[in-house]
Amino acid sequence: MKILFCASEAWPWAKSGGLADVAHALPKALAKSAEVTLMLPWYRFMQVDLSALERVAHVTLSFGGEDYAVTYYRLAREGVETLFVYSELLSEREHLYGPPSSAYGDNDLRFALFSRAIVAFAKRERYDILHLNDWHTALAALFATEAKITAKTLFTIHNLAFQGLFSRERLELLGIDPKYFQMEVLEFYGKINFLKAGIAFADGVTTVSPTYAKEILTPEFGCGLEGFLQKHRAKLRGILNGIDTDFFDPKHDDMLPCRLKKDLSIFKQCNQETTGIKKSDLPLFIFIGRMTAQKGIDLLASLCDDLAKLPLNFAFLGDGEEGIMRQLEAVDRKYANIRYFSGYDEVLSHRLYAAADFLVMPSRFEPCGLNQMIAMRYGTLPVVHKTGGLADTVHNIDDKEAVCGKGIVFEEATAGQLLEAIRSALALWHERERLERCNRFNMACDFSFAKSAEAYLALYRSLL
Ligand code: ADP
Repeated sequence: MKILFCASEAWPWAKSGGLADVAHALPKALAKSAEVTLMLPWYRFMQVDLSALERVAHVTLSFGGEDYAVTYYRLAREGVETLFVYSELLSEREHLYGPPSSAYGDNDLRFALFSRAIVAFAKRERYDILHLNDWHTALAALFATEAKITAKTLFTIHNLAFQGLFSRERLELLGIDPKYFQMEVLEFYGKINFLKAGIAFADGVTTVSPTYAKEILTPEFGCGLEGFLQKHRAKLRGILNGIDTDFFDPKHDDMLPCRLKKDLSIFKQCNQETTGIKKSDLPLFIFIGRMTAQKGIDLLASLCDDLAKLPLNFAFLGDGEEGIMRQLEAVDRKYANIRYFSGYDEVLSHRLYAAADFLVMPSRFEPCGLNQMIAMRYGTLPVVHKTGGLADTVHNIDDKEAVCGKGIVFEEATAGQLLEAIRSALALWHERERLERCNRFNMACDFSFAKSAEAYLALYRSLL
């Protein structure tokens, strides 16, 4: 089976969140049983020298009254062929989607161009499956239908909150036939909605956990698309993400100054010493991620005065909403036991996962979430709100069933329940043996992409 897997970002070249992890780990897992090509844009900030790569094709794409020169470059890595798409408009940028907290004004055109580049290549190379991911590549499902390519298309929604909404005035420039600008297809409250193209035109649609697949059919989680998704629900499925367990491996992770030998507490202590968090006998709680309402960071930030009084250390890592970042900076200055690291720092994130005792994820919604799986792999107990992929991957430690994984799970995303859950974690901290048993249980769980890859392969087969 020949698969063209397309995404706007992939680790290690470009990453803004979980999509990049998945676009790296899933093709790698699929490559064990299929022929996989990963296609992604080349961006100026990448550490990839195009002149050193094989140039495999060059095309001119004409649409919206303009001609766009597009070149494809090949790189083989970890059994996966990667094709970088270069086109000046798409590629010559300092950032993926725009500088922090803003978006480039021509992202619609950039990713419409990328989507056309995908289809142009798929047309000449004859793939069985075109696997598209998120709004950046969603238009490719429409263009593939128009181009009558033989490949079946699968569209994966990694986060329904990001739909790619743009002004209708841009239709002509994007070269999209106005006949598609209607509610059944691309129109969404007077705007063009790229994500709808993926849902409407792909042969199959998935999202990244079974629970989220159900949740998005409801007004609470559907982001206005619940009715549209209901219409297409026959082709919608949830397949749980995994993580790259070679990359996130406490025994071999070369981003860690101290790798796991036998003793979990030595491993944690030794890594904590290199994070800049002062040495202490108190448990370390961490939050890593985008500082947005989705992640419930505002709930945590509102609790900082309470947290400061508890016998714990708390470290935050991430960027996001200005107000929250300022609040955390102030808290960092005020309290010795709370630290805030701003920015995106892969190395520090690994050290924090390794050093911490508890990872807190009060997400209001969570399509899948990778942090909790990474944390469990490093012997760090997750404290999570029961939603989406968190509900599928973390089960209350009091549950008797031996289902992977275990953590502290709370029902409602409120500051009150979150504080209660953190207090429960503190109580558990004193039951050292039980906590260690849970962590060891979680570390033995299989969070790899192997199972997900099997589910995707079965789905691809069913589409063919
Ligand atoms: P998202 O909704 O942002 O995609 P996921 O849980 O799916 O969230 O994936 C987040 C990924 O990004 C994880 O690998 C996490 O460790 C990483 N990550 C998030 N924020 C940061 C940060 N500030 N520094 C380093 N890694 C981060």
